[in-house]
This record gives sequence, structure tokens and C-alpha cells, in this order.
Amino acid sequence: MRTHKIFNKVFCLLSIGLMLTLYTVANAAEKTTDGAYDGHPRIVILVVIDQFRGDLLARYRDDLKAPNGFNLFLKRGAYFTDCYYKYANTKTAPGHTTIGTGAYTDGHGIASNEWWDLDRATDHPVSSVEDPRYRLVGTFDDLPVLPPPALPPTAPRIGASPRNELASTFGDEVRLATSGRSKLYGISLKDRAAILPAGATANAAYWIDQSTGRFLTSTYYMSQLPDWVTAFNKGPRAAQAMKEADAEGTTQFYDLVGRTAAANSYELDFAEDLIQNEKLGQNGMTDVLTVSLSANDILGHQMGPDSDSQKQMTISLDKQLNDFFSWLDTHVPGGLASTWVVLTADHGISPIPYQAANVGVPAANLDLNALADEINKKLSERYTPGNDTVWMMPLLELPYLSIDRRPFEKLHISEAEAEKAVADLLPAAIATLNGPPEPVEPVVLPGATPPEIKFSETRLKPQPHPVFIRTKTQLLAGDIPATEFGQLVAHSVTSNGGWYVMLELQAYQMEFLNGIQTTHFSPWSYDRHVPLGFFGAPFVPGLYRGVVEPVDIAATITSVLGVNRPSSAVGHVLTQMLRPETTGEQAK
Ligand SMILES: [Zn+2]
Repeated sequence: MRTHKIFNKVFCLLSIGLMLTLYTVANAAEKTTDGAYDGHPRIVILVVIDQFRGDLLARYRDDLKAPNGFNLFLKRGAYFTDCYYKYANTKTAPGHTTIGTGAYTDGHGIASNEWWDLDRATDHPVSSVEDPRYRLVGTFDDLPVLPPPALPPTAPRIGASPRNELASTFGDEVRLATSGRSKLYGISLKDRAAILPAGATANAAYWIDQSTGRFLTSTYYMSQLPDWVTAFNKGPRAAQAMKEADAEGTTQFYDLVGRTAAANSYELDFAEDLIQNEKLGQNGMTDVLTVSLSANDILGHQMGPDSDSQKQMTISLDKQLNDFFSWLDTHVPGGLASTWVVLTADHGISPIPYQAANVGVPAANLDLNALADEINKKLSERYTPGNDTVWMMPLLELPYLSIDRRPFEKLHISEAEAEKAVADLLPAAIATLNGPPEPVEPVVLPGATPPEIKFSETRLKPQPHPVFIRTKTQLLAGDIPATEFGQLVAHSVTSNGGWYVMLELQAYQMEFLNGIQTTHFSPWSYDRHVPLGFFGAPFVPGLYRGVVEPVDIAATITSVLGVNRPSSAVGHVLTQMLRPETTGEQAK
């Protein structure tokens, strides 16, 4: 009897404890309230513009007239003019991962879009999200067989997952705080930009099949597309985007439609379908959606940040965002008043080197294939005299020059020694390729008007100049200068990526690019500067100056939501823009 009573008491206490726990968990991101400041919006939407430098909104501000476009952040929200990534490998996959996780590469593990990992593949660099344990999911079977170069529908389609993302995202933390009842989705044209900012616990990430533009996912998330995605794919939307992009019937959707404004409205329409069909914001707790708009990057690499086509795309995006946010206002319960929106970019961009050189900046291109030939020659003379051996991996990209470990291993040469041998050869090899200095001439492309600039007759042509060389072994051992620059490098270190040497060139310099004009990869300000805007009840509208970082997004969102910050987050809470919280007592 007595035992029974004690059992009852314990059971009762346990029940109360359990109820309290459930109540607390539910409160963490639940209890959405329209318009009120209580840290519980119905939806948090993260909009990432792929390759959008932080100065561009200021440059085009007079042309941005839509009330709910960029002005949602510039006039009605909190906007930070000086947001800079504090790391050196400013590429798409690390950028999107940094935004989601609030950590840099040393915290989340993603250093590049792809890297050589000879344990995983010897015929191609593995991408940041490719994962042969999964398959892509789409309704390919009902598609007509496409002419080359498109893959036939029966081709094996390697799946994708966040396997290399070693930290949780703010979306993951919202899901954890609600025992998975909050919903989390990621959308982009690019797989990495859909998967990485959303995180491991996402209900789904959707990106496109590059040939057809149809939205796909991976068996990591599900074995079959939801009916609404199949309906979107079978509907007229892809054909309409092709028409808008002047590429009717194309089998190169990503390249030809992807570089136009039509791709942005295509993605935003898909986002609206997702919000409606997955009932985001109707859940009684906070849902999270990440949307990465890829078109700016695809066009920007081809035309450069200073082109008129980029300006026009920005003006189009202003109207497209206005349409999307106005749609949200009328289609999500509570409208924009119970929605938080964050705007940022995964990286900036360099001016096109010849255009910068024409203004007088020491900009230049380095031929990485010729550099690899020179290094291969010198290493062969040293290690395999009389035999030409290939020591560097193909498809080199800055800042990480990948080394083929196999010929070194045959000679029992360690990673540290191999990397040092390559690093030691780099300055002389670059000098050999440069040759003697010659007078500078403005570059005029065929058909273009010559620039107005006149250089002194004795001015010399800028040449590629290495400013920082470190082996992976040195980087992992912390052999990095204790300077501001060193901190950028330290934040970029990961053990991923086989054997390599990190090479940083002087600012405004880059490799010769294949088929595009400019790129982003460097520790320099133009690659690290991005917009940062917040719209929502807790954020006091205004223009905020002073340096902040994209890692502050996850730190701030999780703080105001009252959930844990992501597992490796290092950002600061942007307290300067937070509305003071009023307690019930103060209000009396
Ligand atoms: Zn890019």
C-alpha cells in the first residue's frame, strides 16, 4: 500500500516534471503571436543572394523604389552597411554554411565548393554535398529523353546530403527546441545552396536539375517528391521561365535561364508553392525557410559587378522581392507582421581584373595550368629525374592548390615534405611565368570603347604577386601570423581536402578563368563584403554602421527566439538593433 502511495507520488511528480518540460520546450519557439514582440514569429525567412557585394545596394539605391523590395530592409527594417565575412575562402558552399551555422570553416568544416579527396573519388573533386549513399529524387521517368549534352533519365544520379557540414544551423536549433515540430526547408538553383544553410534536420532541400529546371531533392530527405512539387514540375512554370529568358525549349536551363532575372521569379514562385503546400506559418510555432537566389552569381561571373546587366538584374530583383514579400503579407496568417526576414549574401565579388587594371589598380591573372606545369617540371627534376611525373591534381583553383599524394607516397615522401616542396617552389615559378616587366597598355576588348585613362609611359604592367603561402600541414599546426589577416586564414582551416598549399595573391588578382570573367575566393574586402538586413517586430528600423559579420545572423536569430545557438556558432548578438523587451510588469 505504502509502496503504492510512494509510487503514485513519484509518478505524479514525474508527470508534473514532464508536463513542465513539454510546456517549456513548446514555449521555446511556439506560441506565435501576430505582430507582437515576443520572439515567436510564424516564419523566419532567410534570403541569400548568391554573389551580391555589400556596396551594390548603396550604388543603386535611387533605382530601388518598390516599398517591399530591398526597402523592406533599407527603410522598414534594420540594415547593416558594413557586414564582412571574417574568413579567407569566400566561396558559395562555405558562405552558405557560415550563414546557417553562425560559424566559419574552422567550425563547420566546409572550405570550398569541391575538393580532391582521393579516398572518396579519384576521377573528380568531390562536391561539398555529393553523397553516393543517396540518390536524387525527381520525376525523371515521365520526361522525354533529352538530346545531348543532357543526361538521359536513366543515368545514375548521385544524391546529396549535408554530410560534410559539421555544425548545426539556426534552423536545426529551432527544430531541436520544438522536438521537430517546427518545419525547416531550403531552396536554391544550386544543391549546396539549398542544403547547407538549412542544415541536417531540414524536412527537405530542393534545387534544380540543370538541364530541365525541374526541382529535385535527395533520398537523404525523402524517397518520393511530394505531389505539389511534381505538379509544379509538370506545370507550365519552367517553360514560362525559358520564354522569359529568351531560351525556349533549352536543355541548359541552369546556364541560360539561370543567369537571367527569370530564374529569381522561378525560385520565388516555387517558394510560394512550398509555403502554401507545406503550410508554413500555420503550425502554431516558428517555421524556417532558406531561399538562395542563384541568378546574380551566374550572371555576375560572366559580366562582372560593374556591368549594366547586373544593375538591371538588381532592379528586377527589387520588384521580384516586392512581389514575394507582398504575397507573404496576404497569404501567411498574420502577414509580414508575424514574419521575420533576413537578407544577406554568401560572398561579394572582384571587379573584372582587366577593368580594374584599366583604372590603375595592380590587377592581374595568373595561369594556374602553366603554374602546375612549372611545378611538375621542377618536382620531376628533383624526385624523378629523366621522368616527367604529374605531382599536382588537375582542375586547380585558388586559394587551395591540390597535390596528388600518390606519386609522393610511392617515394615514401610525407605530406608535410611534399607540401613544403610545392610551397617553396611557388614564388620562383610565378616569377618565371611573369617574365620581365613590360610597359602597361590599357586593355581594350574588340568592339569596346577605349578607356579614358592615360598611364605614364614608364608605368609597368601589373603582374601576379603571391602575398601568402602556407601548407595544409602548417595551417593545421596553427603556423599562422597573429594578425588580422592571420585571423581570416585561421577561420578558413579544415582538415578536408587532401594535400594542398594555400596561395593568396595580392588584391584584385586571380587565376585565368575558363569561360567567365571574374570570381570570388579571396580574403580581400570586396569578396567579404555583403548586405545584411533584418525585417521583423524585434528589429528597430534604421541604418546601422560599424563592422558586423554574417555569423551574427544565427547568433541573433537564436537569441531572440530563445533557443540554443548552433553548435559551433561564434557570432555576436546584434543588440544595437533589438527593440527593448517589455515585460508584463513594466507595462502595468
Ligand atoms: Zn560564384
